[in-house]
Order: sequence, then structure tokens, then C-alpha cells
Amino acid sequence: MYDEPDSFVYDAPLWRPPSEGDNLIIQATLGCSWNRCRFCSMYRAKRFQARPLFDVFADIDAWSKSWPEARRVFLADGDALTLPTDHLLAILERLAAAFPDLTRVSAYAQPGNLLRKTIPELALLRAGKLSLVYVGIESGSPGILKRIAKGVTQKQMIEALAKPQAAGIKVSATLVLGLGGKAFWQEHIDGSQAVVNASPPEFLSTLQLGVAPEVAADFAKAYPEGFEFQDDLGMLAEQERLIAGLAPKRPIIFRSNHASNALALAGNLPKDRDRLLAQLAQVKQGAQPLRASFLRGL
Ligand code: SF4
Repeated sequence: MYDEPDSFVYDAPLWRPPSEGDNLIIQATLGCSWNRCRFCSMYRAKRFQARPLFDVFADIDAWSKSWPEARRVFLADGDALTLPTDHLLAILERLAAAFPDLTRVSAYAQPGNLLRKTIPELALLRAGKLSLVYVGIESGSPGILKRIAKGVTQKQMIEALAKPQAAGIKVSATLVLGLGGKAFWQEHIDGSQAVVNASPPEFLSTLQLGVAPEVAADFAKAYPEGFEFQDDLGMLAEQERLIAGLAPKRPIIFRSNHASNALALAGNLPKDRDRLLAQLAQVKQGAQPLRASFLRGL
């Protein structure tokens, strides 16, 4: 247990992966340096900025007094990996000095951030205890990546996923079910399989598409011909096709436990593929209920 440092306030909104819920969060940046993905509303209201080291150090020092035994730190906001390597190394050094039990530092990284770092730079960050990055693949389809303005091609996405792993940094990646709508769902899933099979992350999870009102007009530009949202059965068909076609070169820990999902699944792929497909078949036959709509969220 810990108490927040006196009069400490995060710069809102503050997002973090569900698995970081019990960990210390330090805001190294505010907002997202890209902030252009057409479906994403997370940081639309926030202007991107790299926080001055002085301010980040002040937060670290304050937290080190109220929570000195913290073991895991998540560097917020949207893509702390956009920071220059020496800036990140300074933060990692300060964290290591402030928290003697520190075992892991993690951060969101957009693919473009990873492409701009060299493997030796990433290895330096790994030596500083940055051992996990969260990467939104969203879709592996070349056409859908372009439509949603992800900022990278399919080939670049594969390269971006491989780079941190070559430096010993684990990757936790997400796909957004429904991103191709009813018209392009097979292309969406097949492209996503191709990316994951070519560059398997350590962890893979799926979310379900939700478009917030503030980005609805921007999202509509991705599909000028019109977009029909997938219903629950469509989402299950996507999940089924995805799991059936994943043949990673090494095991992936797979989850669909994010609150946006109609169905929570968990297993290791490819080992648990048949069990997960059997579970999906049962749900489609009505033998297992889906999560109620009012319990789903972003
Ligand atoms: S999906 Fe990620 S990279 Fe894209 S705008 Fe949102 S936070 Fe930024």
C-alpha cells in the first residue's frame, strides 16, 4: 500500500494498460506524439509535450518517499518511447536510484518510435530496466493501416515489432477487432495474422472497436464509401479466424480480457488453439453468454 505524495496530481487524462493497474505511473510525456490514428480519441484533447526532466525527476523523488518499495513503473503518456534515448536513460537512472527494488519499467511505444531507435539504443534502454513495451498493431492489413493513418506500412510494423525483441525488450501488442467493419473484416484479420506470424510478440491481446463521438468525423474519413460496424457475431468470427490462422514461430500469451471485448479468452498460442476455438464454437451456439453490453467499456 502507498499514499500519493502530498498534493500530487497527474495531468489528465491518464491512460495505462490494464496490466499496469497496480504499478507506479510516472508521466514522462504528455499526450501522444502521433495523435493521428483516426479511431483513437485517447489524447485528442491533449497537446503533446515531452515533460522537462526537472519535472519528471521531481515526481520520481516525491513518489520515492511515499512508495519506496515500488517494483514496477509504467512511463506514461501515449508514447514515452518517442523521447531521445539519452533523455530516457536519464529517467531510467533516476528511477533505479530512487527505487532499490525496481524490476521493470514499461511504456507505450508506437511503431514509428521503435523504427527510429537503433537496436544498440534499445539494448541500452533494456540495460536500464526498460523491459516491456506496449505496441498497438491495431491491424496488419496494409490497406487498413493506411485508412486509419497508423503512420506505418505492414512491412514497417513487422520491423517495429522485431526491433525491441532483438534488444531483449518484451512486446505486448494489441489488435482492434472490427477495424475493417463488415466489408473488410477478412482482409483485416488475414493481414493481422501475417504481421503476428512474421514478428510474434510475447503477449497479444484483442480489443473491440469503439469510436468515441469526438473522433467519429475523422474515423468516417477512413471509409469514405461508408462503414458498417461489426456486431457481436462478426466480432466472434474475427476472433475465430484470427486464432485459427495464428502460427507464430514461438509461443504467444494471448488474451481478450480487455473490458471492450464481448468474450474474454485466455491461452497460449499455438498450444491452446483448439481449446479456444472450441470455446468460441460453444459461445456461437449459445452455450456460453457474452459479456453484457453495459459491462463493456474502453
Ligand atoms: S492509437 Fe496510439 S499512436 Fe495512435 S493516436 Fe492513439 S495513442 Fe497515438
